[in-house]
Amino acid sequence: MDFQHKILTWYDKHRRELPWRAAYGQVPDPYHVWLSEIMLQQTTVATVKSYFLKFLRLWPDVDTMAGAELNDILAAWAGLGYYARARNLHACAKIIAGQHGGFFPQTIVELQKLPGIGPYTGGAIAAIAFDQSVAAVDGNVERVLSRYYAIEAPLPDSKPLIHKRAIVLVPQQRAGDFAQAMMDLGATVCTPRSPNCTICPLATECRGLKKGIASTLPRKIPKKPRPTRCGKAFVVQREDGAVLLRRRPVKGLLGGMLEVPCSEWLEGESTAVKMIEHTFTHFHLMLEVITSDTINEAEIRDSSTHEWVALNQLAGKALPTVMKKVLVEAFGSDVLKG
Ligand code: SF4
Repeated sequence: MDFQHKILTWYDKHRRELPWRAAYGQVPDPYHVWLSEIMLQQTTVATVKSYFLKFLRLWPDVDTMAGAELNDILAAWAGLGYYARARNLHACAKIIAGQHGGFFPQTIVELQKLPGIGPYTGGAIAAIAFDQSVAAVDGNVERVLSRYYAIEAPLPDSKPLIHKRAIVLVPQQRAGDFAQAMMDLGATVCTPRSPNCTICPLATECRGLKKGIASTLPRKIPKKPRPTRCGKAFVVQREDGAVLLRRRPVKGLLGGMLEVPCSEWLEGESTAVKMIEHTFTHFHLMLEVITSDTINEAEIRDSSTHEWVALNQLAGKALPTVMKKVLVEAFGSDVLKG
């Protein structure tokens, strides 16, 4: 049995049930595939499930999403991180609804012209939604192929070689199932720390297993340690209890999301007692939480970026996780229960 046959046979028995995945024998919905792939770019399947279902409830198709307010999408996205994805999601929905009659293009080339869709996501949508014979190499697939071919060069240098191997394997038939089968095998059998080779359909040909190095692959170039930054977060409360929030600039870190006003975040460490910590991809943040009920409203220079929000309205706002931590530190965990 060849590689493709083995993995598709395995998939027919062991495929994961996922909220965005078409039932066996059903045609996939490109909107579901696209939405899930954007959410899964930086986030685990377990976390994405509830967000995906919430988004479908709020915006059941690409046209309703295109007609939504960006701030509502950011609010629904709050907690998923990497907020540029939410902005691109909205921009992409508008293009699909406005310029493509509500239909996603089917080729990887056309898909990659859309906001938020790079080579991997374009490949995944083309393969899963439209059964195009293209490779979709995510972290799971990188791991499976690094092991199967015993590729010892570290990531990211080994990416081009892994990609070459992946392209050759894509079958002409059932390319969508093949892409999902590879992802599922990586997620459930060829797992990062302890691959379960005894139940793997690829075990007889797996070079990594034969050499006894499977669990050490893929090798990775060690990351530089993250720097630490610190700053102050000012939780300002008005007499009626409302809290002052401001919207961050659309471009950049946490773009378009709400925050309590903060000082600059500069390199250094904080020794404050009332403090929260949060780790971003490129730095670790220590924020001193300063609560105050005195604010001169004249100091709020730009009412288009600042707003007063009642405590019981905070839960529905576009607050990133770091700001939720600040508010919980200031008011206790019930503050975000709405
Ligand atoms: S045999 Fe083991 S290492 Fe090789 S692909 Fe299967 S689970 Fe991964």
